[in-house]
Amino acid sequence: MTNNNNNNNNHKQNNNLIQGFGTRAIHAGQDPDPATGAVIPPISLSTTFTQPSANAHQGYEYTRAANPNRNAFETAIASLEGAEYASAFSSGTAVITAILSILPAGSHLIASDAIYGGTYEAFSKIAIKQGIETTIIDLREPSHLTKLLKPNTKLVWIETPSNPTLRIDDIQAIAKYTHEQDAFLVVDNTFMTPYFQNPLQLGADIVMHSVTKFINGHTDVLMGVAATNRIDLHQELQYIQNFMGGVPSPFECYLARRGLMTLEVRMQRHEQNAFRLADYLLQHPQVTQVHYPGLNSHPQHTLAAKQQKGFGGMLSFTIKGNLNNVNALFQHLSLVKVATSLGGVESLVSSPAYTSHARLSQSLRDTLGITETLIRVSVGIESIEDLLADFKHALENAY
Ligand SMILES: *Cc1c(COP(=O)(O)O)cnc(C)c1O
Repeated sequence: MTNNNNNNNNHKQNNNLIQGFGTRAIHAGQDPDPATGAVIPPISLSTTFTQPSANAHQGYEYTRAANPNRNAFETAIASLEGAEYASAFSSGTAVITAILSILPAGSHLIASDAIYGGTYEAFSKIAIKQGIETTIIDLREPSHLTKLLKPNTKLVWIETPSNPTLRIDDIQAIAKYTHEQDAFLVVDNTFMTPYFQNPLQLGADIVMHSVTKFINGHTDVLMGVAATNRIDLHQELQYIQNFMGGVPSPFECYLARRGLMTLEVRMQRHEQNAFRLADYLLQHPQVTQVHYPGLNSHPQHTLAAKQQKGFGGMLSFTIKGNLNNVNALFQHLSLVKVATSLGGVESLVSSPAYTSHARLSQSLRDTLGITETLIRVSVGIESIEDLLADFKHALENAY
């Protein structure tokens, strides 16, 4: 499958040629250091910055408010998402709670029920303590929003494709209904990254990422980011970033900015490998179901193809048998590791029912298709023959 990621390329704005994705991923917000000429700007660990006078500064005062490495990262993300502004936080979860913090008490929020387990916790437990009313519901039929939106609805939150069954929500349609009320739409774009999906161009007001996953891509940084074109929302997020203080360190911003430089080639390879693995699993006699939006058999393949520029590196599948067979399979994987994160260069498998979604009720897990034999795969960028051989061996020995 080739992706048609040309939408961002070769069109003009303000008479400046907009550069291609790969170019911006390397260069946006990252000029050589003017003091030394260093091609890669240094890590600015200083917490404070000298001022030329009592009432002036040179762009930086105190590192919680702004830091050169954080700025470089935020500028790059804004460029890649086609956003004016971006704000980085100490985790994806800190982005979620920052966005909750800009809602006035007494607000109502609506979230898709196919969201990350931690987002579900924040909305079902923390939001309520802040006096925010929450509706968590299946949004695959966007017109249902007309009945769900209330005068105090301020926020609609979706994640697409969702974790772990790769369900797709229609960003454009949901944005349209959201804006009929005075509410804003947030899209968690962690699975797609800006390479495969740009929610702001489809009408979302904020796009957020757990940078921890594909954006950093090397399983060694915990971080989050939110990007927007709305100055009002940006100012609120900047205020929360500074005065709730959940900011990433300069070193993490440096690493994440470095990770971004290879985002394009990594995502291309993640997708290539995911297609090969999905095809392999699909024809395996012990595999009962494969969830991958790139497959024609995915119930929302057409919608995915319409709003995405590719299908990404995440898939999940169910096997015959029970938890014992899942454990046997996991024990016989050797290259692929059993661990709960995703989006790194290395392949990982996990059992959503016992990890990311363990805190949900059994009935909600059943509704979402998160059964005990559902296995999530974050398909890495190893040589595909080695990945296929590892899964072949493990499936053979799982029974
Ligand atoms: C991991 C994840 C989060 C939370 O991000 P952290 O960086 O772990 O705090 C949110 N949404 C999605 C889709 C995720 O995968």
